[in-house]
Amino acid sequence: MNSVLNNPRSELHALQPIGEGTSEIESLLSYFCRLAVSHSVSTLALSRSIAQRIEHNVSPDFDWHQRRLASICESAETWSAALAKLTAVSRLDHLTFLPWKDVISKSGLSIVTRGQFCPACFADDLAQNQAPYFRLVWESAEVSVCSRHGCPLERYCPHCGKDNIRHASAYVVPGWCTSCGEFLGKAGAETNDAPINRAARWTARQMDELVHAQQNLASTPTRSNLINAISQIIEEMDNGQSAVFARRIGVAKSTVHNWLKGEGTPSLKASLKIAAHSGASLTQLLNGDLSTWVCPQVEPQLVLNLPQPKARTRTVKRERNWAEIESKLREFLASPTPITVREAARRLNIDTRLLYLRVNMVTRQLGERWKEYLRRRQDEHVVNAWPHLEQACIDIWAEGKAVTLREVIARVPAPILAPLSNLLLNLKDVQSHLMRPDFESEAEK
Ligand SMILES: [Zn+2]
Ligand SMILES: [Zn+2]
Repeated sequence: MNSVLNNPRSELHALQPIGEGTSEIESLLSYFCRLAVSHSVSTLALSRSIAQRIEHNVSPDFDWHQRRLASICESAETWSAALAKLTAVSRLDHLTFLPWKDVISKSGLSIVTRGQFCPACFADDLAQNQAPYFRLVWESAEVSVCSRHGCPLERYCPHCGKDNIRHASAYVVPGWCTSCGEFLGKAGAETNDAPINRAARWTARQMDELVHAQQNLASTPTRSNLINAISQIIEEMDNGQSAVFARRIGVAKSTVHNWLKGEGTPSLKASLKIAAHSGASLTQLLNGDLSTWVCPQVEPQLVLNLPQPKARTRTVKRERNWAEIESKLREFLASPTPITVREAARRLNIDTRLLYLRVNMVTRQLGERWKEYLRRRQDEHVVNAWPHLEQACIDIWAEGKAVTLREVIARVPAPILAPLSNLLLNLKDVQSHLMRPDFESEAEK
């Protein structure tokens, strides 16, 4: 099913990227996985050999699937260049978001590290007798639905229910679960009746258009063109008042100021908001081309209800009532069932580390109480198992055998043995107790 171009001069198979020229273009991560399959090597082995060739120092814990191969970061650049060189297939940067790297802020494009996919797309691939593959649009954290099938993108395997099963493994065949090996595709997933919100569909369509456009750019999108376009939008929509515009799109006044007067570049999320509010498409905006844009007249009806970013300053500096938290912790401490510090933190919706920092003494007491509880529970298990172990030893000796783990396991029911944390140590204790000189007389009493 893989279309391998025969290019005797390339070091690696000259695989043709799937979906070229369309919005369903393959992602570089998918391409890389298929390349490993094509060479019958693990993704890890392939990643190491590529990393060595591009003279990267490969650390022992080098993990290819944490490289965010399809993003706009440096590793996307190095890897797309290296793969293009080794496969002799040009423009592999089209399989990443790199064409937009000057118009999206450095950390402004979130990549879904654990992977998401559309089961209906995989099923279609197979039905069309083509290798299933990961689409570039699925890599963006802004995209949560498949615009072709209208269904939400999935993260979990429908068979084993596990997460992170799309690609995080040494051997990856796109479309199959890396945990249980089952096919991740499902025909008719689009009939999923979960209501998809309009904003999610709109965003997916914008991203589709973006990855489609990036394969045919007349010129490289530049930051200055983008900023000019934003200025024009502010001028026409809000009479040049950037503070009004900032409020409109839900970002801080200083952020917009930094775009216009400083060196700031909007994140992808921010550009999506500008597009949604102005009625320009994301592609038009990032290309800085508003030649066909018309300022919306009845603006409130056109604005989509994109989720507002949380006000950062307020959430960070959330005032906590530490006296109240401490008294809650003391309640936990006094309750009949001990709980872990982590559970306490969860119930109070606070980071565990913060609890240790701010309410150190009570938090430590809580931790100690849990450890003590564990020790006690362990003791109970030993007390419970003790007579069984004694009887087993006596029986084994009676048969003239030595007490071994295997002999004991054959005689004592598993539910009795299972909770013991150190069976070997418990057995030694039992034996030395049985061999004490006073044991016989004790038993006779
Ligand atoms: Zn789909
Ligand atoms: Zn699975």
